[in-house]
Amino acid sequence: MSAPVDSAAEVAAGAGGGAVRTVLGDLDPAEFGVCDAHDHLFLRSPRLPGEELDDPAAAERVLRDFAAAGGRAMVQWTPHGMGRGAFALPGLARATGVHLVAATGLHQDVHYDPQWLAERYEGLAELFTAELTTGLRAAPAGVRAGLIKVAGDYHGLGPHTRRVMAAAAEAHHATGAPIAVHHELGTAASDVLDLLCGQHGVPAHRVILGHLNRLPDLRLHRHLAGSGAYLALDGPSRAHHATDHHLFDTVAALVEAGHADRLLLGGDTTTRTARHSPGPTHLLTAVAPRLDREFGPDLARRLLVTNPAQALTVRWAAH
Ligand SMILES: [Zn+2]
Repeated sequence: MSAPVDSAAEVAAGAGGGAVRTVLGDLDPAEFGVCDAHDHLFLRSPRLPGEELDDPAAAERVLRDFAAAGGRAMVQWTPHGMGRGAFALPGLARATGVHLVAATGLHQDVHYDPQWLAERYEGLAELFTAELTTGLRAAPAGVRAGLIKVAGDYHGLGPHTRRVMAAAAEAHHATGAPIAVHHELGTAASDVLDLLCGQHGVPAHRVILGHLNRLPDLRLHRHLAGSGAYLALDGPSRAHHATDHHLFDTVAALVEAGHADRLLLGGDTTTRTARHSPGPTHLLTAVAPRLDREFGPDLARRLLVTNPAQALTVRWAAH
């Protein structure tokens, strides 16, 4: 596990001149601020008909509410080919003052047209690397991704997943970018670490494991945090996953085990419905105040400021 870090300034010093790659350029991690480390302003999937997040004006309202509650940064985990709004992200960041980090990568195959997907399998690592170093497709010139999003399957990793994770690892090795992982109902995280870190040589601290609180197995969570990977406790907006039921017990167990420096928080708002119930601002108006009450003010700052800056700071390779 990495050494504890107590402030964003120490993150900057410890990273040796690294930066968070936002849609408006590379940022000193000390400037990143209060962060929703897993969310979505834009998202489109055939699995979520009628729930598309595709309206820049609605995204701007979300960001303005988030900023009014003290939010300064948001990480969008929407990968390539899912309507991630690349054309709108820089303007939204400028208009609202919220730092935005965009993703490359691919989700599970169920979210794509099979023909479209088949055409992208060749050169996948090159695609991810180009989006991290040159720019996102369908974005204004020079708008780059700051992380790679991939996805596991339910209690396992299928052929599509293995292919995408191999490409993500290759893009990581070319750039240093972190890899953020969707776990189906919180499962298969150990398989993901075996594949990404064991087989493909990605350092565990460059992996962000998402959705683990959909499977409230605290013994497993302690083991995963002990590997050095980050655990993103995301989804208070996802009523059907009951993540709120476990959030504070999970945080308490991991803090007591010495893993406070591995924890991230996110809203993971993926649908229009979720935006209204209650959306990303909930992290700041409800979750953070309760962290303050139960654990003291240092922990909320660590989970919302220090850890996300550290997880996303990379000494980006020159390209
Ligand atoms: Zn998500």
